Amino acid sequence: MAERILVWHRLDLRVTDHAPLATACRDGAEVVALYVFDERQFTATPEAVAKTGAFRTRFLLETVEALRLAYRVLGSDLIVRRGRTEELVSALVDELAVDRVYFHTYPTSEELAVERAAVSRLRVPYRSWWGHTLYALEDLPFEIGALPEVFTNFRKVVEGGCAVRAPIAAPVHIRALRTNVGTDRIPSIEDLGVTPPEVDPRAVLLFKGGELEGKARLFEYIWKKDCLKSYKETRNGLLGPDYSSKLSPWLAHGCVSPRSVYAEIKRYEAERVKNDSTYWLTFELLWRDYFAFIASKHGTKLFRASGLRGIVLPWTHDRISFGLWCRGKTGFPLIDANMRELSATGFMSNRGRQNVGSFLTKNLSIDWRWGAAWFESLLVDYDVASNWGNWNYTAGVGNDARGFRFFNTEKQAKDYDPEGRYVKTWLPELAAIPADRVHNPSSLSAADQQRFGVRMGSDYPNPMLDLFKSAAENQELYESAVTRVTKAVRGGHA
Ligand SMILES: Cc1cc2nc3c(=O)[nH]c(=O)nc-3n(C[C@H](O)[C@H](O)[C@H](O)COP(=O)(O)OP(=O)(O)OC[C@H]3O[C@@H](n4cnc5c(N)ncnc54)[C@H](O)[C@@H]3O)c2cc1C
Repeated sequence: MAERILVWHRLDLRVTDHAPLATACRDGAEVVALYVFDERQFTATPEAVAKTGAFRTRFLLETVEALRLAYRVLGSDLIVRRGRTEELVSALVDELAVDRVYFHTYPTSEELAVERAAVSRLRVPYRSWWGHTLYALEDLPFEIGALPEVFTNFRKVVEGGCAVRAPIAAPVHIRALRTNVGTDRIPSIEDLGVTPPEVDPRAVLLFKGGELEGKARLFEYIWKKDCLKSYKETRNGLLGPDYSSKLSPWLAHGCVSPRSVYAEIKRYEAERVKNDSTYWLTFELLWRDYFAFIASKHGTKLFRASGLRGIVLPWTHDRISFGLWCRGKTGFPLIDANMRELSATGFMSNRGRQNVGSFLTKNLSIDWRWGAAWFESLLVDYDVASNWGNWNYTAGVGNDARGFRFFNTEKQAKDYDPEGRYVKTWLPELAAIPADRVHNPSSLSAADQQRFGVRMGSDYPNPMLDLFKSAAENQELYESAVTRVTKAVRGGHA
């Protein structure tokens, strides 16, 4: 009799390049697949925001729908449950008399806790795979505890010392388990306690969840629109679908694996162009890898206020200022435009994320974890390690921290939005101000305000702080905190 294998899907919502599923099919097993909407993902965070906001919830629902369809096309089905994952996995194993459980493992604390709780209840063998990075964990030329603390060192070691595996093909057929057990309806967004998001026509892309949608975007960006050849020059853009790949939501939900993206980059290099841009997309995927491995090495330190480096800073917890940042009411157009884009669409460019993160931590000196939690709630592409790792970095408490890296918002605005098109898109109240003044509307005289149809302080806020004074004050605090850590480390080594 064929074995029965349960493939438990988590952040790997695809059938291509999926080692657990491929192994189960190769072994000739009867396969049943499961996805659980874990109730803990739909609660409020300690910072009092919805842990999974509307944009990601919608994307997730579309993705699960697409995964179920993929299973049905292959001859099987996806069972969907709602509740506490560990209880539901073991209940299904018992109900279906499953022989083994296969799944992907993740290094971040909540995912690890669920996994540990689930396997502790199992009375059957299980096997797990690491499958969400470009380089496989087991192929790294060092133990995870010896992972370099500086990204460049990591990059050089992996680029010189290991290969990226080819993606695994999707099964052509899945031997289904004959069962009467209910597959359950996929919940609606309202069932999950989430209000459906509105569609904003200014969104960079209408992100739709699912493996086929992710593959379609990959095809469109690389082949159809031929954008890859100029990625390095465009990647710091702010407006439109094609300044960067926009693959992050599909990567974060595991609809597309980084190895599949890499395979397409290599094919493009062989068939069309190989240049700095084609390399650079791989380089960015390496950053993603780096944060995943860093999360594995450092565990819960990733989420502590003092971060990976243990730098204790006097973060403030001023809810009013934080609210102004969240709602895009700081009086700094580049910051406000980005924050309003995030709230309206669930996406923000990498350039934007760095700027708003710098403003929150280097100017407002607000606890960076509040910013990370806000992003967690809103981002359609939220990825635990990438989000909390980047926030560590932005706040200056990451392992690879390079001193007090403050972004001069006004200069950034002039460099990356010279015509003011981005800020005018998201701050229509500033639309009539000429490009050379739109990034500094508080300098407008009363007559100019009247001419350009904006009243500072009512239509648009005056700046909530002095950019350079606040940065200088925070830099002083930061440098003395770093000195304390350095002394403590030296003392520890004495
Ligand atoms: C404060 C902050 C928070 C962030 N939170 C997230 C997050 O929750 N999820 C997320 O996927 N990215 C996060 N990023 C990284 C980056 O901003 C996004 O990956 C990128 O903007 C997504 O757009 P894209 O797919 O068009 O990227 P592209 O420029 O096309 O890059 C291709 C892929 O490389 C990866 N990548 C690119 N830059 C980074 C980076 N700095 N760190 C890790 N991976 C990267 C992503 O998977 C991305 O899809 C964050 C960055 C900052 C500064």
